[in-house]
Amino acid sequence: MTKKIEDILSYFDELLPDAKCELVYHQDFELLIAVILSAQTTDKKVNAVTPILFDKYPTISGLSNANLHDVEDIIKSIGLYHNKAKNIIEVAKVIHEKYHDQVPSSFEELCLLPGVGRKTANVVRAELFKIPAIAVDTHVERCAKRLCLAFQNDSPYEVEMKLEKIIPENRQILFHHQMIHFGRYHCLARNPNCAECALKKYCTLHKVKVEN
Ligand code: SF4
Repeated sequence: MTKKIEDILSYFDELLPDAKCELVYHQDFELLIAVILSAQTTDKKVNAVTPILFDKYPTISGLSNANLHDVEDIIKSIGLYHNKAKNIIEVAKVIHEKYHDQVPSSFEELCLLPGVGRKTANVVRAELFKIPAIAVDTHVERCAKRLCLAFQNDSPYEVEMKLEKIIPENRQILFHHQMIHFGRYHCLARNPNCAECALKKYCTLHKVKVEN
């Protein structure tokens, strides 16, 4: 491991020792549904609707038989709710009929579910099955690029590949949560808290700010 990665990991451990998934769930399928709902919106908004959703549909089979308009009505405060409502009912149907109500752990099987891409599959595998992965969301991508762990024009997939190569497997799950929390609460898209950040020497943005 390079000195830079050691510094980043030890700073994250000091700053964010308890970083974890902020989506609230009580059953495996609830996590999967919550992650699908979280696309292009905040965990806070998802956590505001999922208690109502899971109270009305406490089982996969219940959700698989749900009325589309009823689900839309419950989740309408989050973005893309029409497609998301369709997708989560369909996901529940597939998991009920094909996987006997068990969320699959295979990356390929997860990615075949409606509304599930690499990021969602990685989050679900890491959270439910403790399979090392670094899902790249907007926070992870931004922070990785600021810290020069990836190039500015890298795609989320390229960022994921680079991070998974340089972060030891046994640290990837925690690192993923720490990057999200770092981006959400410290290294914000606008007005990052650079004054208190110990990673300035590795940060492109900070160097640009100083030079200007
Ligand atoms: S110096 Fe600022 S922009 Fe750079 S990583 Fe730290 S908080 Fe983020």
